[in-house]
Amino acid sequence: MRFSGLRVLKEGLTGNKGWKPHWRDPQPKSEYDVIIIGGGGHGLATAHYLASQHGITNVAVLEKGYIGGGNVGRNTTIVRANYGLPGNSEFYSHSLNLWEGLEEDLNYNVMHSQRGIINLFNSDGARDAAARRGNQMISQGDDAVLMDNAAVRKMIPYLNFDQTRFPIYGGLYHPRGGTARHDAVAWGFARAADQRGVDLIQQCEVTGIDIVDGKVCGVQTTRGPIRAKKIGMAAAGRSSQVAAMAGMRLPIESHVLQAFVTEGLKPCIDTVITYPMGHFYISQSDKGGLVFGGALDYYSSYAARGNLPMAEHVIENAMTLMPMITKARVLRSWGGIMDMSFDGSPIIDKTHIDGLYLNCGWCYGGFKATPGSGHVFAHLIATDRPHKAAAAHRLDRFRTGRGIMDEEATGSQHNLH
Ligand SMILES: Cc1cc2nc3c(=O)[nH]c(=O)nc-3n(C[C@H](O)[C@H](O)[C@H](O)COP(=O)(O)OP(=O)(O)OC[C@H]3O[C@@H](n4cnc5c(N)ncnc54)[C@H](O)[C@@H]3O)c2cc1C
Repeated sequence: MRFSGLRVLKEGLTGNKGWKPHWRDPQPKSEYDVIIIGGGGHGLATAHYLASQHGITNVAVLEKGYIGGGNVGRNTTIVRANYGLPGNSEFYSHSLNLWEGLEEDLNYNVMHSQRGIINLFNSDGARDAAARRGNQMISQGDDAVLMDNAAVRKMIPYLNFDQTRFPIYGGLYHPRGGTARHDAVAWGFARAADQRGVDLIQQCEVTGIDIVDGKVCGVQTTRGPIRAKKIGMAAAGRSSQVAAMAGMRLPIESHVLQAFVTEGLKPCIDTVITYPMGHFYISQSDKGGLVFGGALDYYSSYAARGNLPMAEHVIENAMTLMPMITKARVLRSWGGIMDMSFDGSPIIDKTHIDGLYLNCGWCYGGFKATPGSGHVFAHLIATDRPHKAAAAHRLDRFRTGRGIMDEEATGSQHNLH
């Protein structure tokens, strides 16, 4: 079934009786050409592009919970292409280009809103770094505008510009950045993959990876064994645990990242604002809630929930930047498990095991990567060659030291990311 304005009108006039579930609920088959472990954004997007770009439709996505229950439905929805380093810069640019045609490709409203994103800076040194990053973005073909204090004041006058701790010097504005509705992205990719014949198997946890003579041949799951010629791992925060089933130890640590939303308010913030010195960022959802977050919890954990010390830390910074936020009431907070790589950049590569492919290391930035990640991972699985937009995201960089992309310039310390 295709969605269209006409269809909405027809259904509205006939009691909405013609809508069908977005995807089937199939029983697992005994064998697939490709199994994707993880029904998050990346796994679903990979399945969609395997089917739509490479004609590989005998595919199953195995999800231990439900579609959209992982980080793809827990993030703060920011989409941007303002990465600085070669390798990441091309990749996120590729992803943003895919976002711009995504709703048409999926025939689904993911509410992609290019409302712009502004990264504030609070010192001369930070302004130099922003100018350098902006030039890199422009030379990559993306957009960036360096704004001084007066220009930022005009655009977002409600900030506390003259605070003594980190006075606002200006901002780097990225007009094509913005937001998308996170769970709609999961649903849109799921529906599109299902329509091309991909089996989405929920409540199906992978508990083992079967390998014979250095080659994968299937998985063990809570719904029984399933054979496969190729297996893609896209388990985000659980990547280390899934890779361990194949005897691999990844350069990944899992940390919790939390987020918060207020009650619905009238429109007051029409862009995305980030305040790196305060580990704080904010936007307003289409429902009116102020959606905001901050830094990682500083220790490794698989607990996908919030806690009070981080709530205090984030809200202190919110109050410093935006005193008006005191009037808003926080409705809820939550957490998701981040797969933090040691250089802050993702890994999209073959493994040493024939037929086993790895997609992980998204840190706290993998939502914006969803179409790009699925697109290049599908290419890798289908052709056994890395896509040119992800050629730098190799696993062996952590062994050889060559090609490390220290995107956050924090070295190997996750808690400084
Ligand atoms: C609070 C928060 C804010 C964030 N904000 C942003 C943002 O604004 N912008 C941005 O770009 N990124 C953001 N991120 C990061 C982004 O959400 C993640 O990097 C991205 O969603 C990870 O990819 P995914 O969607 O495939 O992950 P997930 O949705 O977590 O998918 C992985 C799936 O694998 C499944 N799985 C795990 N183990 C198994 C197993 N053994 N068997 C079967 N299935 C398994 C899990 O259940 C899960 O559904 C944020 C994350 C959080 C938590």
